[in-house]
Amino acid sequence: MTRTRPTVVKFGGASLSTVPAVIHHVRELQAEGSPVVVVVSAREGVTDLLLKILGDPRAVQVHREIYEELERRHPRLPEAGRAHLRSLPTLLARVERGRPGDLPLADRLLSLGERLAAHWVAGLFREASIPAVAVEADRLGLMTDNAYGASCILIDHSRPHVASTLRRMLRAHEVPVVTGFFGRSLEGRVAVLGRGGSDYSATAIGAILGATRVELVKKDVAVFSADPRHVPGARHLARLSYEEAEEMAQFGARVLHPLTIEPARQAGVEILVRSLEHPETATVISRSDPARPHRAVTLLRPLHLARVRVPNGANRPGVVAAVSDELAHARINMVTLFTSSALLSIVLEPGHTRQAVEVLGSLSGDHAVIVEGPFPIALLTAIGDGIIEDLGRVPLAVLRSAQGFSASPRSLSLAVPIEAGKDALLDLHRALVESR
Ligand code: ASP
Ligand code: MG
Repeated sequence: MTRTRPTVVKFGGASLSTVPAVIHHVRELQAEGSPVVVVVSAREGVTDLLLKILGDPRAVQVHREIYEELERRHPRLPEAGRAHLRSLPTLLARVERGRPGDLPLADRLLSLGERLAAHWVAGLFREASIPAVAVEADRLGLMTDNAYGASCILIDHSRPHVASTLRRMLRAHEVPVVTGFFGRSLEGRVAVLGRGGSDYSATAIGAILGATRVELVKKDVAVFSADPRHVPGARHLARLSYEEAEEMAQFGARVLHPLTIEPARQAGVEILVRSLEHPETATVISRSDPARPHRAVTLLRPLHLARVRVPNGANRPGVVAAVSDELAHARINMVTLFTSSALLSIVLEPGHTRQAVEVLGSLSGDHAVIVEGPFPIALLTAIGDGIIEDLGRVPLAVLRSAQGFSASPRSLSLAVPIEAGKDALLDLHRALVESR
């Protein structure tokens, strides 16, 4: 049986503010001849409101105001959506009485923003004669691991339910409006994917359905060779390979959720990042084209660098493992790591540093290692397929200031002193992008 491949289109919270433009865009996609699957984020600011409840779980009066705000933001909400609002006070009471750090309960509350948005959007679509049906991702069977707050989608586990339900809807000429941002954990509870996670939901669904493409519609967000607020010469990037886009998300270009690319890459589904107002600044993310490498530069700061010196490291098995085990045990994330056999330079988020240095210090007795730092740094990264060939273009002043350095076929990262970060960013961008 040949299947018509659908187009998956995800609307971000801010783009949902102009519903007529959203409806117009869905009609344009339908006119291309492919069935359309819509994925939605919560309306702009709604996830922040829900986080505010979790940040102050005893503030009953604030909770009531937020409840009313949610009602106001979803006018003419269909009955299935109103049912969610009606059950909110019970959920709030559990949060108010609950123990702090109940992550599954938090995720259940956070998922409300997308549920309301999906029912609200589907209702407005139906009023415009688009036969839309809201679909809640946990009920759909979009399965995740149990890492509440930042879970990963399990594509193979999800495939049977997601494919059969959505394909049945498409055969019936319905337009599914699926909630982004969360799924159902292996334990059967609601699990969110982390901030910006609706992009990831969209590419996972696109991969499962073998979509023609996945469109990520954002308001006024474009992918640039550097953050244009800091780099006046930044250029719009019209194309990127999957790997380049993944490195950019990883190294702080906050346009995409870092896990968004992988499902699309695996399934070979093209991603189109675009806004409705400025289609000319769209970016296509697809297979790498060696003839057309792209270059981007990112800067992450403030960060800290801690050094672990390992005398005679080349002849001492297990030291790296001991360091990373201790940090993992204390749930401290390494942003990145530069190594030689005698020196490990660990880049940390400032909030983790004090504890990290303590943990590492505890190794110094048993393992005869010396811990130095933390030093405040910025992490400067140049990204692009084949970037290693550009090593010779990196300005000498930037190289000289580096306190650590690592290279892969598609990224070069340098730890530079925090106060040198901004100039190093401008210099490196000039060398790799502007003077090409
Ligand atoms: N609503 C969620 C957030 O604000 C997910 C998303 O927007 O993609 O992070
Ligand atoms: Mg959002």
